[in-house]
Amino acid sequence: MSDANSASLYVVATPIGNLEDLSPRAARLLGEVALIAAEDTRHTGRLLRHLGLSVPMLSLHEHNEAARVEQLDARLVAGESIALVSDAGTPLISDPGFVLVRELRARGRRIVPVPGACALVAALSAAGLPTDRFTFQGFLPAKGAGRRGRLESLAAREETLVFYESPHRIRDTLADMAAVLGERRLVLARELTKTFETFLDGSAAELLVRMEVDSDQSRGEFVVMVAGAAPREEDEAAVVAGEALLAALLAEGVGVKQVAAVAARVLGGAKKAWYARAQALKDAG
Ligand code: SAM
Repeated sequence: MSDANSASLYVVATPIGNLEDLSPRAARLLGEVALIAAEDTRHTGRLLRHLGLSVPMLSLHEHNEAARVEQLDARLVAGESIALVSDAGTPLISDPGFVLVRELRARGRRIVPVPGACALVAALSAAGLPTDRFTFQGFLPAKGAGRRGRLESLAAREETLVFYESPHRIRDTLADMAAVLGERRLVLARELTKTFETFLDGSAAELLVRMEVDSDQSRGEFVVMVAGAAPREEDEAAVVAGEALLAALLAEGVGVKQVAAVAARVLGGAKKAWYARAQALKDAG
């Protein structure tokens, strides 16, 4: 579908450092819309000046986003197209815009993505970690206990984990990763597309040492990627024995909870995991 016709909200990705990463389509649309809703109008103003554009702007950030919905919708209904941009990269990805897009989509408005830079995709594309499955977790909680709790809940995941992190917290985050994830391999992508772009590879403890030796390594913006947990190899015979025990007990009419308790006592392992298996068997049967 062409970009013309009906009034649209264009969700426009902007560069994450290198200004050449703005697509020609994005540049054209930024010049064509009636209004640009920007996370920070001063920041976007610099981009527009670089492009030689002068387009009216309206701020849209996490504190006023909900209040802006009616105003922006009225402009769309009046036939004016709008571009949504954030300070860097793709709007809505750890950036404002979700509430606006959700509300406008619910009203049937035309919403058009204009893809481009996104730090997590750029980082993954060059890290050399598996990308067939990954989990993007945005920013970890700011406080240590919350951060460690989140990491613990993710520790067994087998896919690559991706986080955003700021220079203020990168060392604390790495220290918590060292405590929770041990020797797991990490890749740290810093200052992507900028002059001091760096990829560092190693365990969290090794990366902390690199930062101690060279404090420049803790400056700038980071994407932290963590190799997934090694797949747990289950002894096939144990699996068969476990399944047989569960099936026999269920067939006797024993409740799922008791089945899980017996299996955990006889065969070892977590009661919770046995419960999930027994429940699945029961549902299937
Ligand atoms: N919407 C953006 C995107 O599409 O990537 C992300 C915005 S989020 C508020 C900012 C975070 O993204 C930074 O703290 C950092 O973790 C990551 N980031 C943004 N630009 C980056 C860059 N050039 N290099 C490394 N990480 C970057």
